[in-house]
Amino acid sequence: METVDCAVIGAGVVGLACARSLAEAGREVTVLESETAFGTGISSRNSEVIHAGLYYPPGSLKARLCVEGRNALYEYCADRGVAHARCGKLVVAAKPDQADALQAIRSRAEANGVQDLALLDRARIRELEPALDAHAALLSPSTGIVDSHGLMLALLGDAERHGALLALGSPVIEGQADGDSVVLHVGGAQEMEIRARWVINAAGLDAVALGRRIRGAAAETLPQAWFARGVYFTLSGKAPFSRLIYPIPEAGGLGVHLTLDLGGQAKFGPDVEWIAAPDYYVDPARAERFYTAIRSWWPQLEDGRLLPGYAGVRPKIAGPGMPDADFRIDGPMQHGTPGLIHLFGIESPGLTAALAIGEYVARMVAGAPKSS
Ligand SMILES: Cc1cc2nc3c(=O)[nH]c(=O)nc-3n(C[C@H](O)[C@H](O)[C@H](O)COP(=O)(O)OP(=O)(O)OC[C@H]3O[C@@H](n4cnc5c(N)ncnc54)[C@H](O)[C@@H]3O)c2cc1C
Repeated sequence: METVDCAVIGAGVVGLACARSLAEAGREVTVLESETAFGTGISSRNSEVIHAGLYYPPGSLKARLCVEGRNALYEYCADRGVAHARCGKLVVAAKPDQADALQAIRSRAEANGVQDLALLDRARIRELEPALDAHAALLSPSTGIVDSHGLMLALLGDAERHGALLALGSPVIEGQADGDSVVLHVGGAQEMEIRARWVINAAGLDAVALGRRIRGAAAETLPQAWFARGVYFTLSGKAPFSRLIYPIPEAGGLGVHLTLDLGGQAKFGPDVEWIAAPDYYVDPARAERFYTAIRSWWPQLEDGRLLPGYAGVRPKIAGPGMPDADFRIDGPMQHGTPGLIHLFGIESPGLTAALAIGEYVARMVAGAPKSS
């Protein structure tokens, strides 16, 4: 049986950020990834937005790790040459009856330490984005976009430079808590058992199911997994916007918004559809709802310009009709099993927060579980 200090399960942006922080803190790290490439899960099926931290309940992990992670991410991207742009975004109240909701977002953002929002009236909106038809908007200058694959490549490079090892094609089948450590059964071409002093479960959509397959840990502390698919439609031709455009959030997501990639290509999404198990089908018929939603703030959108794009699936731990759940980073204090850390419900803003999550986990492993 092999032994390792830290085994990180999952090479998405969060697992890689954890591996980097742990390796840089001097820990011996192996990352176990079931697929034959890193970053093919949630981390490659999202909006690639660097969120400012407007929406999340003050004091929640989502709020704290988003703001902390966003600042760290801009610095990191500049330092490592990861492609990104601080393009800014507008959250729009299409009609006067949404003005209160906009105010509520502003108050919450300020409670989260986001002090750079500006409230714009119709005339100012027209100056900035002539094609946008809205009663009022909040301008968030610290929202941006990032090349998520470039980010993951940089994180992996940092982790490897500090001795971490990435094992691809290595699905963790199950585990067994054993005293101060956890023994993992790893499948793939070379089946093996690994004894790890610390196991970080960063398996994204599989995290809750995998948590159940680790015996000896308190099963009653595990959340229920739910899945909410979000599809995207791409815009044919050039978009007449230079900033990201978001509506008022809807239940389960942030509403169908417009994001731009680093090449300037526009896409709309993701919507919210509860599904029984992850799958990435994009139903072209959903375009109808997109046209209606988008035309509430961009009435000139012509028929035929929306093309089916791709889908992502949110790893939810609260189901339809329930209040949104916070990130859960459950260590021995939460579930009672030494050496085990579960990352549950790492949906948006997980990409933005990844560096902060990595540092948080490294502090838990070092014995100081508090976020700054
Ligand atoms: C539609 C959508 C839009 C989003 N938009 C944004 C956004 O704009 N900005 C933002 O900040 N966040 C966004 N997010 C959230 C963000 O994408 C996620 O929080 C983040 O990518 C999660 O990364 P992860 O590493 O936890 O998961 P993943 O990237 O899914 O990584 C988990 C990895 O674990 C592997 N794995 C699973 N099971 C096993 C096993 N048993 N053994 C070994 N390996 C295993 C998988 O193959 C995968 O590679 C969005 C999410 C969705 C769904």
